[in-house]
Amino acid sequence: MEIDQNFGNLVQLERGKEIYEGILLPSPENGIVLLKLENGYNIGFNKKEILKLKLLKKISEKEKDFNFEISKDKPNVAMVILGGTIAARLNPLKGGVDWLDTPESLFKFYPEIFEKVNVVKVEVPFMKASEDMDYKDWQKIARVVETLLNDSNVKGIIVTHGTDFLHYTSAALSFFLRNLNKPVVLTYSQRSIDRASSDANLNLQCSALVAISNLAEIVLVGHASTNDDFCNVMRGTKVRKLHASRRDAFKAVNDEPIARVYPERLEILNSYHPRNKDKPKLDLKFEEKVALVKVYPGQDPGILDYYLKNKYKGIILEMSGLGHAPTSRARLGWTKKLKEVQNKGLTICASAQTIFGCLNPMVYSNGREMLETGIIYLEDMLSETAFVKLGWVLGHKEWNFSRDKIKEKMLENFAGEFNKRLIE
Ligand code: ASP
Repeated sequence: MEIDQNFGNLVQLERGKEIYEGILLPSPENGIVLLKLENGYNIGFNKKEILKLKLLKKISEKEKDFNFEISKDKPNVAMVILGGTIAARLNPLKGGVDWLDTPESLFKFYPEIFEKVNVVKVEVPFMKASEDMDYKDWQKIARVVETLLNDSNVKGIIVTHGTDFLHYTSAALSFFLRNLNKPVVLTYSQRSIDRASSDANLNLQCSALVAISNLAEIVLVGHASTNDDFCNVMRGTKVRKLHASRRDAFKAVNDEPIARVYPERLEILNSYHPRNKDKPKLDLKFEEKVALVKVYPGQDPGILDYYLKNKYKGIILEMSGLGHAPTSRARLGWTKKLKEVQNKGLTICASAQTIFGCLNPMVYSNGREMLETGIIYLEDMLSETAFVKLGWVLGHKEWNFSRDKIKEKMLENFAGEFNKRLIE
């Protein structure tokens, strides 16, 4: 039985009494092969379990290379490919990954997306894991997306991205791209396409439906549960990676998903900003000297001197759920230092390290002591969104002339970053 010689061909495999048909693919795991079924899912087989292999169709090298076919009956979308697991394929020979960085290599693995849409444009501004990105990359992505938003031939945009820091990018695009006219859908995969349990196909198919929908927002689309059945559509400023390995790693936080999407249909659950004819506006200003600092018991407030000395302009302090840090009663109290650094020009905002819920410094006197130092309490805003927003607000020198103006802008709801229902 010539298993390895049939990679890329349509075959029939027998395992015990079960018979399967599909395209045979190599697997990074030793002794395992994958079968890509007609429905797009992969099944893993231990080579030893395969009783019989029958070649059904030899696929020529030319056919294996993907050809773009544009159909007039399907809507057009554009894709921006940026790296991460969704654009990576394990290479067992080198013990690392290869990027799927050309449209041909990527779509060979994800042909299902073409069942619903024509991918008429593919942009690859860079290929990076999300941990290697910074605000300059977010600006680059926003520029590419803005060009596509202004392209009348494109109905919506799908951006594929690594998972780890995806919620920073989704927040950044939400502030950088104003007056959105079309859907901008960020998606990911937790497990690469050469694994039987890959989440990439469902995420991409669902993203395609959202990209042609009426929903003109920056959203993240990904598995709603560990099952491979439907995805959630989550607002870019209200979403966070909450699991290291599960397919449903991303959850809407302090918010409901805007919609639920199956490969065949979209179910709107909540209000959203609809598709329109506005001209999108690019607002890329960003102050690099911002930081996100987590407060813990016994922490020395002298850490704030480091930021002051290094010319930082603002800090998001991740405080307790209601908004406490060690008070004047603690051995290393923060109250005095917080007043001092703010008087010297550092903007300090509070977010909650409990992730879910809303800050409320009025409940205890310890909270009131913190509030009186002048900290800006960011209600239910996620810390990562708050960090990006602080950089964006402080990047606008015209808003930056007074503490009151900075506070007003930090508390303005620009992109759904506050959930007023939760606060009131
Ligand atoms: N570290 C990778 C990234 O965030 C992992 C992933 O894509 O899931 O780009």
